Amino acid sequence: MKTEQDSGTIGDSVGQETVLKGIAAASGIEIGIALVIGSTPDQPLSFYETASVSISEQDVPFELSRFESAMAETRKEILEIQNKVRTSLNSKEAAIFEAHLLIVEDRKLRNEVISGIKENLLTAESVFSRVMQKYITAISSVEDPYLKERAADVVDVAGRILGHLLGWKRTLLDHLPGQRIVVAKELTPSDTVMLDRENVQAFATETGAKTSHSAILAHSMRIPAVVGINGILSMVRNGDMIIVDGYQGVVILNPTPQTLEEYALKEAENEKIFNDLLTETQQRAETLDGYRIALAANVDDPAKADELEKYGAFGVGLFRTEYLFLKDHIPSEEEQYQVYSVLARKCGAAPVVIRTLDLGGDKISSLVNFMAEPNPFLGLRSVRLCLAYPHLLKPQLRAVLRAGVHGNICMMFPMLTCVDELDALYGMLDQVKQELRQEKVRFSEDIKIGVMIETPAAALMAEQFAERCDFMSIGTNDLVQYTMAVDRGNERVASLYRPLHPVILRLIRNVVKAAEHAGIWVSVCGEMAASPLYIPLLLGLGIRELSMSPVSLAPAKHVVRNMKYIDAEILAERSLLCSSQEEVRELAETFLKMIAPDVSDLNIS
Ligand code: PEP
Ligand code: MG
Repeated sequence: MKTEQDSGTIGDSVGQETVLKGIAAASGIEIGIALVIGSTPDQPLSFYETASVSISEQDVPFELSRFESAMAETRKEILEIQNKVRTSLNSKEAAIFEAHLLIVEDRKLRNEVISGIKENLLTAESVFSRVMQKYITAISSVEDPYLKERAADVVDVAGRILGHLLGWKRTLLDHLPGQRIVVAKELTPSDTVMLDRENVQAFATETGAKTSHSAILAHSMRIPAVVGINGILSMVRNGDMIIVDGYQGVVILNPTPQTLEEYALKEAENEKIFNDLLTETQQRAETLDGYRIALAANVDDPAKADELEKYGAFGVGLFRTEYLFLKDHIPSEEEQYQVYSVLARKCGAAPVVIRTLDLGGDKISSLVNFMAEPNPFLGLRSVRLCLAYPHLLKPQLRAVLRAGVHGNICMMFPMLTCVDELDALYGMLDQVKQELRQEKVRFSEDIKIGVMIETPAAALMAEQFAERCDFMSIGTNDLVQYTMAVDRGNERVASLYRPLHPVILRLIRNVVKAAEHAGIWVSVCGEMAASPLYIPLLLGLGIRELSMSPVSLAPAKHVVRNMKYIDAEILAERSLLCSSQEEVRELAETFLKMIAPDVSDLNIS
């Protein structure tokens, strides 16, 4: 028997096949076992597996304060439990928590961790795990049965402290117990970068929307994802069999044998279409009437740079460097220099556009974004953060300039609203160049500087920006968010997030005209560039370069190779005259069905 649930209605799903509707965030189909990650720990923490992570001297105070606050939080937690159980347990049982308190208050333990952080320059969790392992091994090996039992208390408290240091969720995500489909309330970008990629088959979350950064990451990692499924956490239990259909945006709980068979068939068909598309990747990205289009890659994980060739990317149109900062430490100038240089060498003459740090919004690093903001997408995000804290940006500017000697590196500033921000960034760049010259460090003097157009303010002032830079790239994910006043990660307003609204097309057109007037190049690097449905429109509006996740390049190239530029121009002209997204969508769908029916059926939106 089948039941169908709109995201919003929740019913009893035990044993029945239930279809849960959400938002298709990353295409693909996976069938597997659910691992439900709630907001509290439901699995013991494996602190034996915490790796040793080095820090620099200047990070020591930060690590010490993390350790102190983890101890304080744990103490508070134990006191709360103790208060709760005092009335329901006898005094002997309540005394267990006294023993737990003694552990968090133990001076010897605290001093050992503190000196370990200072002397060995390791993160708090690295030192803490080593110290605890030593204690637990010692206690477990004594003969006395009473003391032996105390080892369990130490494990319990140590797990709590480590949980605070790492975050419960992160520890689970980092070490999945095998191949699993992760079901969670939300996955932040920093959770997603830590995902145990070998074992995660797909994910399904209650919150999120198509262009939230976690969805973008899932897509680039080729992990099917459905987001914005209201109530999924209360319906799915650990160990349930589920299907994640990232094309249609549905999750099927307890599928019947017939559904499983249908899905296995569908998966095989889609795989075949995709593999056929891959055979075109080394062909030219040229329209039927001879217009060459540059198809570049968006890169968030430099370790995946090998994919560029496989998918036929012409260089890198957007390197989201903030993911380097969402791990466990702030990368030094030297580390960044190594990463950028490797990428530059790999791409040879093709451009590698390195975007400066774009933290904030939904990309929150506990190492940088110390202050919680009530409205982070409108807060101290991106270049605003960098201008406020030059010590964050300067090492990055130095690293990019230095790496410039190894290839065709370009630098791009995100999230600008006013030209004076750009002027301030140029000021900082000049300072950094001057320092490098004085230090006699080799760097590229004539690196090209680009500006991301992702706010309506910047789109409408594109002429002024164009006069001051070498290229522009339109970040449609944010441009749509800020123009439509719709949080790009909020499933509750996802239907109002409208990339095809004529107002967006007009803004894009304005930017293209400004670029043409200034004689500079302009690309699109937001998710619109990856959608077969939107590509003809973008080209018709005058865009000549698209940058997207490597896995999207094959369908994109197929679309380009099967259309005529003059037809796309007509499509764009007609779309600009429309008054709603629906009208534009209809035109774009008819166009795509005509030129690439297979890709249109794949439903890659
Ligand atoms: C965009 O906003 O379109 C963009 C490419 O930047 P990000 O998605 O990283 O915000
Ligand atoms: Mg953006």
